[in-house]
Amino acid sequence: MNTTHAPHIQDAPSTETTTPTPVTIAYGDGIGPEIMEATLRILDAARAPLTYDVIEVGKSVYERGHTSGIAPEAWQTIRRNRVFLKAPITTPQGGGYKSLNVTIRKTLNLYANVRPSKSYAPFVMSLHPGMDLVIIRENEEDLYAGIEHRQTPEVAQILKLITRPGSERIIRYAFEYARAYGRRKVTCMTKDNIMKITDGLFHRVFDEVAAEYPDLEAEHQIIDIGAARVAAQPEQFDVIVTLNLYGDILSDIAAQIAGSVGLAGSANIGDEVAMFEAVHGSAPDIAGKDVANPSGLLVAATQMLVHLGLGEVAGRIKNAWLRTLEDGIHTADIYRPGLSHREVGTRQFTQAVIDRLGEQPRRLQPVQYRPGGIRVAARSHPRPEKTLVGVDAFIDWDEEGRDPNVIGGRLEAAAGTAGWRLKMITNRGVKVYPEGLPETFCTDHWRCRFLPAHDGPATFPDVLSLLKALHEAGFEVIKTEHLYTFDGERGYSLGQGE
Ligand code: NAD
Repeated sequence: MNTTHAPHIQDAPSTETTTPTPVTIAYGDGIGPEIMEATLRILDAARAPLTYDVIEVGKSVYERGHTSGIAPEAWQTIRRNRVFLKAPITTPQGGGYKSLNVTIRKTLNLYANVRPSKSYAPFVMSLHPGMDLVIIRENEEDLYAGIEHRQTPEVAQILKLITRPGSERIIRYAFEYARAYGRRKVTCMTKDNIMKITDGLFHRVFDEVAAEYPDLEAEHQIIDIGAARVAAQPEQFDVIVTLNLYGDILSDIAAQIAGSVGLAGSANIGDEVAMFEAVHGSAPDIAGKDVANPSGLLVAATQMLVHLGLGEVAGRIKNAWLRTLEDGIHTADIYRPGLSHREVGTRQFTQAVIDRLGEQPRRLQPVQYRPGGIRVAARSHPRPEKTLVGVDAFIDWDEEGRDPNVIGGRLEAAAGTAGWRLKMITNRGVKVYPEGLPETFCTDHWRCRFLPAHDGPATFPDVLSLLKALHEAGFEVIKTEHLYTFDGERGYSLGQGE
């Protein structure tokens, strides 16, 4: 269902003369329609050069039997317009319903989740008055690839996938974002002191990309201490770029401590399509009462304008909105007697922002966005020379009191018949053979590292011979991982104690 929303034109100065850009919007559920109407009124009053195609998402679509909350024909509109401003929806209770956000994110390859967390003290209460940070979270990779296996009765695993192109894209996005928004510093957070190859790749790519942005400060922090600092001294941070799981946790911590969840917008960005929305939900408890705060969606709309390269109009709206907050004109959720000046409903708040278009905040820092939008160019890299130098065979073994010396001796004998030698065995990553300690706890899951008995690289047929020999010796191999070097650099971790 596509309709075009007719803009209300009001007198407002604009220096950006552009042919209108069509964007897709959805009114959503609960307070969604009210806050979308408010946002569109402000966009129109500021003469944002946009036209709107409306699609339906949420409760009514779920109830018509579309389990993802979006009708099949809506995809075409989203893909055609490439930019989607979405009001919150109500996810029906009960099984069988899929998250609309996850569906959109995965289907449209929205790799970056961008969540600013800012305090507007002293006008809105906050424990961290100086806080003004943005978390840029990689949205597709890491442990969220969802590749899990149970391999033995005792052991389950998940694959953490980190890719060079995925890391490079999100990290470049973070630096481009910092430039577009006039920010100074980008902090990368990983746990590469432990995960040297996966998180280490992200950190390494960060260092490479940072060198191309000498105008921006770049630093790396280990995620545990970094997260603690975000919680204790968030004002130290500007832009944070991090992996999927860390970003998931960190963005909720940041939103919580900023004390302004109702004022926060978020973006999900892909190469083709981007989606902008408020951080909060559909607030069914206050729907239809003209009390909802439209700020979250409005802030998301300004993110959308910057994304489209319409930084001037985004800045004008944001500054009018900051001025409204400063003037103490507050909706009920942020109204505090003594701090606020006047409690208003959604419509009055909207009008107050419109009345202030062209004004700047006096005490809060006015925003100024650089023109040009955010574009991330993909780079290609030469493929390194890859050499197979060994194999890790994972074995399910629960015999002989799980004595590492027993399995070690048998594996050595079996490998010898196939032209391999056993380098070591680890159990949960700790070396137990040769020369393990009796105290180490052993599960039924043994990682056995084999190297070719001859000099030089191994071949795939060599691996098959090894597996055949292990099978014939009575071992159950549950999986293998090849050990490669890349241009001579080791592409696998050493066992603890190896
Ligand atoms: P919620 O964010 O909707 O509401 C939490 C509390 O905050 C409520 O008391 C609500 O009245 C208040 N609130 C939220 N937004 C407000 C605003 N703009 N102005 C004033 N007060 C506001 O969270 P919830 O109650 O847990 O979820 C309600 C529904 O929203 C659920 O169906 C949930 O699945 C959905 N939801 C949707 C999205 C989304 O579409 N992106 C995100 C989160 C939750």
